[in-house]
Amino acid sequence: MIFTDCFALTSLTHCLFNPQCCVRNNYRENPFHNFRHGFCVAQTMYTVIWTCDLQDLLSPVDIVSLMVAALCHDLDHPGLSNVYQVNAGTELAARYLNKSPLENHHWAITSQILSHEEANIFMHCDQEEVQRILQAIMELILATDMTHHSNILRNIQQIQGFNASDMEHLTALMMGLIKLCDISNEARPAAHAEIWADALFQEYFLQSDREKAEGLPVTPYMDPDTVSKAQSQSSFISCLIVPLCQALGQVRVTDLHADWVTSVNAAPLLKPHSPTSSLSCLSPALSQSLRTGTLKER
Ligand SMILES: [Zn+2]
Repeated sequence: MIFTDCFALTSLTHCLFNPQCCVRNNYRENPFHNFRHGFCVAQTMYTVIWTCDLQDLLSPVDIVSLMVAALCHDLDHPGLSNVYQVNAGTELAARYLNKSPLENHHWAITSQILSHEEANIFMHCDQEEVQRILQAIMELILATDMTHHSNILRNIQQIQGFNASDMEHLTALMMGLIKLCDISNEARPAAHAEIWADALFQEYFLQSDREKAEGLPVTPYMDPDTVSKAQSQSSFISCLIVPLCQALGQVRVTDLHADWVTSVNAAPLLKPHSPTSSLSCLSPALSQSLRTGTLKER
């Protein structure tokens, strides 16, 4: 219904696979930040929305915004984090004054694709709806910068009695959803989660090799000489994923709370967290990186 009303499916297909305006072709073949990741985030978004009956809370415009943002949120990711961009003084960092250079770039590429006549997937929307969708997509993609994680989590936790007509509530929910979907690989079955974790570490280690070769500060949690995959994963799950699931569960995503949180791979790690103590159980390297705003975006 939503897609037939608001999405032109033939245009979406064209947008995905046409060489001139193709979403797929605008993802690079990085070990982790590739089209498969973008597609998985979109697939997870679809699953969460429908299994949790969020269509009761979200308008078709909201859902379309979430789906497009999920699919496009890492477009043209170079496989090198914001920290690297800033430390290396890349053209991207300079273009965006060191402020979320990757996420701003992902949005810029998304905007270019959506402005292509052949990618006009909003042909059934009026001009006001199009502007709302584009604004929402931009904000959602920018929200995937992990340096915003704590603020977004806090905004969700502070919601008392979710009201879909309250823009602050709605924005917090939507940002929480795209963040959850972006970091949801660890909630997949262990065999699948392991593949994604290995791909992420492969990309991390390529970056740290480059940082060492170029004499740049080595991002601690990307250094194979110091990082522990098991500790990193358990910290990531217990300190970032589980609190986000719990917060969203308190808003409305009750099925997510009941099913995902208790079945997430690290269910034994489940323990109370407060907004201010959510960093306390991170490994020192991750904790330092998050506090200093240098946590790797996903
Ligand atoms: Zn991502």
